[in-house]
Amino acid sequence: MKAPIMEVFSSIQGEGLLIGRRQIFVRFAGCNMDCSYCDTVKSRNSSAGRETTIDELQKKIESILTPDFHSISFTGGEPLLQADFIKKFLEKNKYKSLLETNGSLPEEVKKLANLISHASVDIKLPEHFSGDNKDDLIEREIDSLNILISRRVKVYCKVVMLPTTKVDTIGHVAKTIKENISDPSRVVMVLQPASPLDYWVQHTPKLFKMSEKVGEHLNVLTIPQVHKLLEVR
Ligand code: SF4
Repeated sequence: MKAPIMEVFSSIQGEGLLIGRRQIFVRFAGCNMDCSYCDTVKSRNSSAGRETTIDELQKKIESILTPDFHSISFTGGEPLLQADFIKKFLEKNKYKSLLETNGSLPEEVKKLANLISHASVDIKLPEHFSGDNKDDLIEREIDSLNILISRRVKVYCKVVMLPTTKVDTIGHVAKTIKENISDPSRVVMVLQPASPLDYWVQHTPKLFKMSEKVGEHLNVLTIPQVHKLLEVR
């Protein structure tokens, strides 16, 4: 079995609840979305990746393991397009792992939910992307969250905030998630101000308002992309 992989590298996690952890990132090629803020544009095309076997991936990971290694991050692109490959890899190699997904493929989430320890589910706002794939997107993202909660995966949802993002939009999404997940106490919402941060430095009152609005419904953290501040991948 093979999957298109763009790159495998060791770095420091710069987003979400595992921020600061040393991880090995496995970036798959191919995505089913088209987000305006995408910072991995090249990896959206599945033909951009190199077809890689499970054994090749394992050898590469072993060759870059460091003493401070925490976990593998399966990222992309959309890693769930390669859920069968990841499943077979994790059945063979028992690593702690983080799945970084757009949450749009709950049937694929089911395949991995017993094998992963952490998950980051991107919640896309209507302004985030175009395409014909968004009508029932929030329902699919919520299905994904519920599957992960039921299998006791440590899960957070991430919302990228653009300068155009409205406080009420964020609040509405947080309310919808709270009302439709099985255990709101098990999900944290991470608000991620989009890089570069110049706009947000000048609009901190808006950041506070967004956090307060989400805090009416869910536990909330506001965290920018730290790896970009450190100038690491
Ligand atoms: S889901 Fe992720 S990889 Fe795909 S287009 Fe959106 S930001 Fe880029």
